[in-house]
Amino acid sequence: MRFSAWQIIKQGLTGNKGWTPHWRSPEPKPEYDVIIIGGGGHGLSTAFYLAKEHGITNIAVLEKGYIGGGNVGRNTTIVRANYMLPGNSEFYSHSLRLWENMETDFNFNAMHSQRGIINLFHSDGQRDAYARRGNQMISQGDDAVLLDREGVRQMLPYLDFEQTRFPIFGGLYHPRGGSARHDAVAWGYARGADMRGVDIIQNCEVTGIDIEGGIVKGVQTSRGAIRAKKVALMTAGRSSQTAAMAGLTLPIESHVLQAFVSEGLKPCIDHVVTYGMGHFYISQSDKGGLVFGGDLDFYASYAARGNLPMAEHVLEAGMTLMPMIGKARMLRSWGGIMDMSPDGSPIIDKTDISGLYLNCGWCYGGFKAVPGSGFSMAHLVAKDEPHGPAAKFRLDRFATGLGLMDEEGTGAQHNLH
Ligand SMILES: Cc1cc2nc3c(=O)[nH]c(=O)nc-3n(C[C@H](O)[C@H](O)[C@H](O)COP(=O)(O)OP(=O)(O)OC[C@H]3O[C@@H](n4cnc5c(N)ncnc54)[C@H](O)[C@@H]3O)c2cc1C
Repeated sequence: MRFSAWQIIKQGLTGNKGWTPHWRSPEPKPEYDVIIIGGGGHGLSTAFYLAKEHGITNIAVLEKGYIGGGNVGRNTTIVRANYMLPGNSEFYSHSLRLWENMETDFNFNAMHSQRGIINLFHSDGQRDAYARRGNQMISQGDDAVLLDREGVRQMLPYLDFEQTRFPIFGGLYHPRGGSARHDAVAWGYARGADMRGVDIIQNCEVTGIDIEGGIVKGVQTSRGAIRAKKVALMTAGRSSQTAAMAGLTLPIESHVLQAFVSEGLKPCIDHVVTYGMGHFYISQSDKGGLVFGGDLDFYASYAARGNLPMAEHVLEAGMTLMPMIGKARMLRSWGGIMDMSPDGSPIIDKTDISGLYLNCGWCYGGFKAVPGSGFSMAHLVAKDEPHGPAAKFRLDRFATGLGLMDEEGTGAQHNLH
């Protein structure tokens, strides 16, 4: 079923009884051309672009839980193209352009809202760094405006400009940045892939990867063995575990990242705002909740929940920046498992095992990457060669040390990126 104004009128007049499920629940077939392990944003978008761009439709996406239950449905939904280093810069720029056409592409409302992002700075040194980043963004073809203190005050009058320990000097404004409804992105890609013939198989955990003579042959799952010519590992925070099934040890650590949401409020925060001197960023969802988060909990874990000291740390930073949020009641908090790479940049590459492809290392920035990652991964799987904007996301950079992309300049420590 395609969504259109006509459908809404028709269904509205006939008791809304004609809507059909967004995707089928097929039984796994014995064999596929491509198996994608992991039905998160990246796995689903890869299936979608394999079908749409390359005409490959004999695909199964195997998801051990339900679609949207992983990080794609747990993140704080910030979408931006404000990266600086060659490699990241062109990739995220490409991804943002795909975002701008995505809803038409898969015919689903993912509530993508380009409300603008403002990264605050609080010192002369930080201003210089943001000016440099803004220039790089503009030279990549994206948008950036350096705001002074008064410029920020006009857009974000509710911030505490006078009394904070770290006075606000200004902000880097990225007008095309914004947010989206996270699980709707998963549903949209699932729906678009299903419409093109892709089998999305939920509650199907991959428990082994079959390899013979260095060539991938298929997977073992909780619903039996399935053969495949090509297998793509796209399990985000669980990447080390699934790669281990193929005998691979990845340069990835899994860390917890928490997020928080307040009760629903009338619209009061129009943009995405990040604090330059504390672990805090915030936006307001279309339901009215203030959605905010901070940094990692700083220890490796597979538990999708965080600890109280980090919650306190984030709330404290929020109160420093905008004391008004102290009046809001917090509704809930949750955690997700981040696939942290040593340089903070991702991996989209072939492995040494023929027919086995790897996509991981998204750290806490993989939501905005969903369209770009799927597009590039589909190209890699279909053509066996890297896609231009993602060509620098090589796995061997961690063995050779060549081509590392340490966007934050924090060195080779997973949990600092
Ligand atoms: C609190 C939080 C805030 C974030 N904020 C942002 C943000 O503002 N902006 C941004 O760009 N990014 C953000 N991120 C990061 C982003 O969510 C992730 O980088 C991205 O979602 C990861 O890719 P994915 O969607 O494919 O992962 P997932 O949705 O986790 O998909 C992986 C899937 O693999 C499945 N799987 C694992 N093992 C197996 C197996 N053996 N068999 C079958 N299936 C398996 C899992 O069940 C899961 O569904 C945030 C993350 C968190 C947790």
